[in-house]
Amino acid sequence: MAGGTGRQKGYLKLFASYYKPHWKLFLLDMVCALCICIVDLLFPMVSRWSMQTLLPQKLFAAFFGVMAALIGAYVLKGGLYYIVTYWGHLLGVRMEADIRRDLFAHMQDLSFSFYDKNRTGQLMSRVTGDLFEITELAHHGPEDLFISSVTILGAFCIMLTVQWRLALVVFAVIPIFILFTALTRKKMMRASIEVKAKLAGINGEVESSISGMRTAKAFANEQAESAKFNAANDQFRGAKRGYYRTMAFYQSGMEFFMGILSALVIAYGGYLIMMGQMDFIDLTTFALYVTTFITPIRKLSAFVEQFMQGMAGFKRFVELMGVEPDIQDAPDAKPLEHVKGDILVDDVTFRYDSSPEPVLDHVTLHVRPGETVAVVGPSGGGKSTLCQLIPRFYDVTGGRVLVDGQDVRALQQRSLREHIGIVQQDVFLFAGTIYDNIRYGRPDATEAEVVEAARRAEIYDDIMQMPDGFQTQVGERGVMLSGGQKQRVSIARIFLKDPPILILDEATSALDSVTEARIQSAFEELARGRTTLIIAHRLSTIRSAGHIIVIDGCGIAEEGTHEELMAKGGEYARLYSLQKSVSV
Ligand code: ADP
Repeated sequence: MAGGTGRQKGYLKLFASYYKPHWKLFLLDMVCALCICIVDLLFPMVSRWSMQTLLPQKLFAAFFGVMAALIGAYVLKGGLYYIVTYWGHLLGVRMEADIRRDLFAHMQDLSFSFYDKNRTGQLMSRVTGDLFEITELAHHGPEDLFISSVTILGAFCIMLTVQWRLALVVFAVIPIFILFTALTRKKMMRASIEVKAKLAGINGEVESSISGMRTAKAFANEQAESAKFNAANDQFRGAKRGYYRTMAFYQSGMEFFMGILSALVIAYGGYLIMMGQMDFIDLTTFALYVTTFITPIRKLSAFVEQFMQGMAGFKRFVELMGVEPDIQDAPDAKPLEHVKGDILVDDVTFRYDSSPEPVLDHVTLHVRPGETVAVVGPSGGGKSTLCQLIPRFYDVTGGRVLVDGQDVRALQQRSLREHIGIVQQDVFLFAGTIYDNIRYGRPDATEAEVVEAARRAEIYDDIMQMPDGFQTQVGERGVMLSGGQKQRVSIARIFLKDPPILILDEATSALDSVTEARIQSAFEELARGRTTLIIAHRLSTIRSAGHIIVIDGCGIAEEGTHEELMAKGGEYARLYSLQKSVSV
């Protein structure tokens, strides 16, 4: 329990630290809110005083002067409201932006293994949904807490001075009021959690259904998908009904208690007037304070819910921020300089966190500067895994990976990856123009360099046939590129980057022979003079490679040239004849 409270304090402290850069805005918000609260508290008192003191003496000028001042105070209050609403929300928005910036930067640092374990949809909801509740709390939280406390205290003292007996009646009823609120709020909280869970269900259905739309259509299963969605939608509707039922119960209960309280005040106040212990003006003033007193109590009970929701969101944020990247630079990590491109995979064993079996078991491979090594083998054999160890996307479980004789764990990740060009099987295009997508390889490249890279990657002609040439929008909301075109965009990026080490993963999807030949020649052009590891799925394309290794699920099963491996009659020869018979 103590640990829990300590952690809670830690969260609050961290939360408070996000106010720090915006303290001026925070102060402005608080001061304005305090002024509003003072105007609200003074209005009935000043009216009472002017009616009880100025009117009987017929000091009309002074009376109207006070009324004019009150009107002035309300005009001022309107202005203050504007500031509190606009600048106060702006404070929340700025804090949200800061929190989102930190979260996004942290997510950029997290390693491949983190993204293996976490679903995209869930992560996205953390960066968007959760943070909204945090903003609401950031803005309304301190304001509600501070202003409500001041108002309750102020109204309490004033009511006591106006008529202490009547005040005691009101205070006697308040605990019932708070108890009712606390009980129904709990129910409302549960109902609201239920609504959120059901909404997450809907989101999950939408995400999976949209991602799998093509499969659903291919199997003509749209109706089943709709049925699944409708079920989730019905559950959401049911949960919302429950929520509104509780809310209606709470609000009508509040109205009831307010009615009872007013009746009590009037009845007892009437009695006190009859007994000559109070006048009508006092009773009216008092009635006004009852409302002033009750409103912040209602607000505070709503604040509890807002606080819990906001803090729940903030805790999830802190949790995510607390995930340490698996791969981090050592404190004394050095940059990789004057790269020759010598790669040594030295007795490496590797196992993914999610699996007990190693994918690579005591693998040793030496790729000399400028040499091209083709990696082949059955699907799932570990070819991509091996290649991901060189840029240190994962750390080896045993052994070491050396680049130019230096362990990759002793190098700065950024510097290591700056010297490695990777063409992946499934190339990702960012939303934007094809020009920007190629320039992603080297953001400071000139237009001429981008065009030259496109030519060398054999994608130039394709781009010229697109509606807006290099300015054509690609990615999610733009022109769809074929697998072969995407690979050539990726090759163009690497031409710009011009790294000494290359890792090329051929597309597995069937390409037509013209595209295949173009990619092949672009690959060859790219590989010239660079240390290259090429994962080949079509063995015919690597016949000429000087060095071929076969990876079969435990490690390197065979190694040699095409001719040597064919003569050996092992796994390579079997895969080769299998592919040949398929392609014939
Ligand atoms: P290949 O490139 O030869 O087809 P991979 O290196 O992609 O083979 O995969 C080797 C094995 O590791 C497979 O059994 C695959 O299921 C597993 N694997 C690949 N990536 C991951 C991952 N991110 N997490 C867990 N297991 C993985």
